[in-house]
Amino acid sequence: MSTPLNIHPNLNRNAAADGFAGGKLLCNCASDKVEVTVASQSFHNHACGCTKCWKPAGALFAQIAVAPRDKVTVTANGDKLAVVDPSATILRHACTVCGTHMYGRIEKPHAFNGLDFIHTELSEEAGWTPVSFAAFVSSIIESGTRPEDMEAVRATFVELDIPHYDCLSPALMDALSTYAAKTSGVLQ
Ligand SMILES: [Zn+2]
Ligand SMILES: [Zn+2]
Repeated sequence: MSTPLNIHPNLNRNAAADGFAGGKLLCNCASDKVEVTVASQSFHNHACGCTKCWKPAGALFAQIAVAPRDKVTVTANGDKLAVVDPSATILRHACTVCGTHMYGRIEKPHAFNGLDFIHTELSEEAGWTPVSFAAFVSSIIESGTRPEDMEAVRATFVELDIPHYDCLSPALMDALSTYAAKTSGVLQ
């Protein structure tokens, strides 16, 4: 590829600030912005290539993290929010005017129930955790990236020193399998 890849326009590579306790996420509307207050640092911040996570215009990847559900509160213009796909595991609450996803929540039994999915670049505060891995890299083909461009995409993550996977990170895949093993009774 001759042009630099737009992995994400605001990929956070800064170190998390000590004692950082969260901030406000704002949608992209010019006025009456939806505001979500996150009273917690973010965790597991990563680049995600899946077709469901919200990506800024032109970006190949979403930037997505989690925060405890009880720390995530809609604090302004919540009437503009609607769930994008009520049948999805993660119920992504998006602004119906600008399309920005403000938070994703899991209501059914799941390893990640209790964690809300958030896009920290919607916050003006600095200090959130940086992107520590890339997930579902191969999935960007499903949203239009040409298969022959994948080598350059993966090389970009190597350059950025960001571990990249075609599923979630080993720690999160282990969490999903641990939950499944406990649910089935294999693991006591
Ligand atoms: Zn909006
Ligand atoms: Zn995703």
